[in-house]
Amino acid sequence: METDLFVAWFEEAAKLVRQDRDRLTRLDAAIGDADHGTNLDRGLTEVCKALADTRPESPEQVLATVGTTLIRRVGGASGPLYGSVFRAMGKTLESPVTLAGFSAAFEEGVVAVERLGKAALGDKTMVDALAPASRALALAVRDGVGVRKALDEAARAAEEGAKATIPMQARKGRASYLGERSIGHEDPGAASAALFLAALASVAG
Ligand code: ADP
Ligand code: MG
Ligand code: MG
Repeated sequence: METDLFVAWFEEAAKLVRQDRDRLTRLDAAIGDADHGTNLDRGLTEVCKALADTRPESPEQVLATVGTTLIRRVGGASGPLYGSVFRAMGKTLESPVTLAGFSAAFEEGVVAVERLGKAALGDKTMVDALAPASRALALAVRDGVGVRKALDEAARAAEEGAKATIPMQARKGRASYLGERSIGHEDPGAASAALFLAALASVAG
């Protein structure tokens, strides 16, 4: 997995988020403040600019640029949270990047967001999509599955994880203020996390 693949990952993520911006914002309108789609769209537009300007030389540098840009440029909770995922990944990753190395770095990213957000699986947040994706990657590594299939499985796990937030009651973030009224809606951050994984699977295939 080389630098170009990582740059393509975030360019594709920017495209998918742009396409789904209104859906993400509608999800956030139901249980938050209706800005998730615009927050991430703006953040990822800045990410693409930063990647074009800095021309990173390694996957670690791509992730550091992405993380720092999201932390600086996204106003909402999701900016620092996603920023921490990608920065932690970048710190852990070593070139040349193997699937096992990527999986271990992704796990560190999930740990970072769980720590920063004090969120766990089942709290109805982005963790509910990211953690199952991480687990799918770890299983793929254990089973000796190829990169493409591993990333497909991670994307599927993230999508299923996002859908699984629908019946949950939110325990973290703005949606938690709604109490039981948060039940019955997909978490916007889990939905966007699934887009990040879909983008990666798409560029790797
Ligand atoms: P804001 O809530 O500040 O408007 P966004 O709308 O951009 O920020 O992002 C909301 C998403 O951020 C939620 O759907 C959830 O997935 C995620 N989120 C919020 N708080 C937390 C937290 N403490 N831990 C993990 N994820 C969180
Ligand atoms: Mg919001
Ligand atoms: Mg907001």
